[in-house]
Amino acid sequence: MNQYIPSLTASKPRTIKRSNQRAVLELFRYNESLSIGEISGLISLSKTSVTKIIGAFLESGVIKSLGKGPSTDEGGKRPELFGLEASRLCTVAISLYHNAFDVALLNVHAEAFYYENVQFSPTLDYEDVVKALTDGTVRILDERGLKPDQIMGIVVGCAGVVDSHQRMIRTSIRTNWNLNLPIGDDLEAALPFSVPIFVDNFVRFQGYASFMREDSNIDNLVFIFSSAHTGGCVIIDREIVSGTNSFVGEIGHMIIDPKSNIRCNCGNYGCFEETVNIDRIAAETISAKDGHRDSSLYLAADARTLNINDIFAAADGGDAWAQEILDGIVQNFTVLIQNLTVTCDPQKVIISGAYGRSGRYFPEKLSESVAKLSFYKTQCEIIVECSETDTSQNFFSGAGGYTFQHFLSRAEF
Ligand SMILES: [Zn+2]
Repeated sequence: MNQYIPSLTASKPRTIKRSNQRAVLELFRYNESLSIGEISGLISLSKTSVTKIIGAFLESGVIKSLGKGPSTDEGGKRPELFGLEASRLCTVAISLYHNAFDVALLNVHAEAFYYENVQFSPTLDYEDVVKALTDGTVRILDERGLKPDQIMGIVVGCAGVVDSHQRMIRTSIRTNWNLNLPIGDDLEAALPFSVPIFVDNFVRFQGYASFMREDSNIDNLVFIFSSAHTGGCVIIDREIVSGTNSFVGEIGHMIIDPKSNIRCNCGNYGCFEETVNIDRIAAETISAKDGHRDSSLYLAADARTLNINDIFAAADGGDAWAQEILDGIVQNFTVLIQNLTVTCDPQKVIISGAYGRSGRYFPEKLSESVAKLSFYKTQCEIIVECSETDTSQNFFSGAGGYTFQHFLSRAEF
């Protein structure tokens, strides 16, 4: 797992103290309970220093005593165990859709302990949506008795092009909204309390979650979410990269077939997103059904119920037409990955969304196809993995992990 272990080699005494505090707290994020002795061993810090840090955390309520442990690792005595006061710190994770938002309260382990779906009219103005988000957040925190100092951060995940540095929705999926909406600043101004607010595309948080689950030798990764829409997250040297205008990761709009007559929402032709759009693939398959009456896809196509999962299943079952359709999509993914190799050079590409749940044939063919790329015959391999992660859960994990890292980097205890 890509655990974040802060450096213990800072120079100034105050910086060293904070660095040690962060290191101790980080250990608790991944361990339900720890004794002073265990912490001391894990981060090579004296038991005296660890005892002082734990004392301060107990006082501030960040950590609680869990009583005596069952084992005897300290001179025969049962050591006192400590754990995070999970209800003490939380993240507010908001997913903003075109006609609703989900609010989840996450504990330090990024597990949701409260969840609510708030619907609103799809014609609502931006200002009204900001008000609905503000009112909803304040109410939910109030009802649960949560105070601002318990909130590590509010994370807003949006669709469209989102600039995380400016906390701005550059282009929304809501066609009645303006460009470049500073939702982070607007929420900050509207909320009656001050907490860190993070705004980014959903998929970047999902990618961050997937990255955190990887082995620690993975530093460079591209995460692709692909269904009817495609988004991405580029992680280089263990950091999310977004670029000057936050366009890095908008890989759905990488043009992979400039001669295509398929026009994308962005105005260009041959964007990856449209060429692999699962709804388009299903519609094209249904249109072409009469030429493939012997295919196992025919009945579902004739009934117009056919979807991409039918194609994955038929290909796994050996259906020649389904395999031919997927071979074409494999080619598009291969071109995308070739382009990603020369722009990002990742060790690994993770594919989620509908193409993450693609059975056996598609991932096998894609891995074979990508293996043949071998840029300039360098034999540098790139790992391609189709991942069945749940989209909401992955967003929550990424949002919770992101705020926790930020909390650790700035916290004063
Ligand atoms: Zn496009």
